Amino acid sequence: MSYIRRVSRPLAIEEARERVLAEARPLAAEDVPVERALGRVLAAEVVADMQVPPFDSSAMDGFAVVAGPEADLPVVGESRAGHPFGARLEPGSAVRISTGAVVPEGADAVVPVERTEDAGDRVRVPETRQGANIRYAGEDVRPGDVVLRSGTPLGPAELGVAASLGHAVLACANRPRVALVVTGDELARPGEPLEPGGIYSSNGYALAAQVERAGAALTGVESAPDTADGTRAALAGALGEADVVCVSGGVSVGPHDHVRTTMAELGVEERFWGVRLRPGKPTWFGVRDGTLAFGLPGNPVSAMVTFQLFVRPALAALQGADPAARRVGAVLAEEVRRNPGREQAVRVRLGGDGELRATPTGPQGSHQLTSMLGADGLALIPAGEGALTAGDTVEVELL
Ligand code: AMP
Ligand code: MG
Repeated sequence: MSYIRRVSRPLAIEEARERVLAEARPLAAEDVPVERALGRVLAAEVVADMQVPPFDSSAMDGFAVVAGPEADLPVVGESRAGHPFGARLEPGSAVRISTGAVVPEGADAVVPVERTEDAGDRVRVPETRQGANIRYAGEDVRPGDVVLRSGTPLGPAELGVAASLGHAVLACANRPRVALVVTGDELARPGEPLEPGGIYSSNGYALAAQVERAGAALTGVESAPDTADGTRAALAGALGEADVVCVSGGVSVGPHDHVRTTMAELGVEERFWGVRLRPGKPTWFGVRDGTLAFGLPGNPVSAMVTFQLFVRPALAALQGADPAARRVGAVLAEEVRRNPGREQAVRVRLGGDGELRATPTGPQGSHQLTSMLGADGLALIPAGEGALTAGDTVEVELL
């Protein structure tokens, strides 16, 4: 039986993250139709080459007029959305106008219909000031404005703004291809019967969903038995097809943990093994020809937490996005015991009005996956003696 000695000292979370990010170079870009770009990351600036709104338009249903005192005016035509009046409005006349329709040349105010006496071919309008109820061209965007920066993750608002400028396609970073490998003789697929000593593989599903959420493309989820040959076959396949390989389990010091030795055999160079983190201590990271390989601990909470802390930032960086997770300060709602040697990632719910309160989700064992349910973030509890007490401020990395 051969035990693998730990040579390097375990790293702090930040040091480990830096080593990961040092290897994550942005992928190439491709054009993506706007309707399929949700969740993608922009790979070039979007610069406006037109103004929005494109023309002076009415903010109301009513009448376009020349501003002035109360008057009784002939209605000489209509400007509807998409159907301009098409002529000049002369002083002393009115044009019926709809919201979003072009304000006719010559008009400089719109009177809302509620403030008029509309008699069909004539209309009585009150005193009106210049510019009333007109949305001027370019009030939202001017030509030359940098509207979206490279590296911006595309959400509904970004897609809407791009479309408002007439962009049908956007240059987006390629989605990193991620291959998952779950190791363990005990694993069964949901839907299959459990053998004695078996458990359902939750990591294959939770990690696949995290991959998807991070904007990456899952190439597949492979199961590997706890043998050197089986692990090698699965890892060789995964390394050949992906930008990022994520393995769960088999990365610890047990006699049936084959991930580290197999990675080395396949030419993956170790960048670290071990993080002063709970849960997630045995996390392993290596690289081969630009392919990033993560060995995540098998315990389901550890796998999800270490994905969040190390893999998700890498997937963001590969797409040219800011890898830093959003952090907030919050006040602990209850005591949390510290760990003398390791920083803890405690799953918390955030709430409270005014002061943000962080409430641990319940028992925090690395096998207690329900502790991830309803979690808004990971409260990072510094290593040390004793406990943090209710009312102490902690940093929370949002999920
Ligand atoms: P390991 O890291 O392989 O030593 O596994 C640590 C713990 O995580 C063990 O209790 C495993 O049964 C469990 N585990 C490993 N892989 C999975 C998985 N895919 N889904 C759920 N639990 C797992
Ligand atoms: Mg195992």
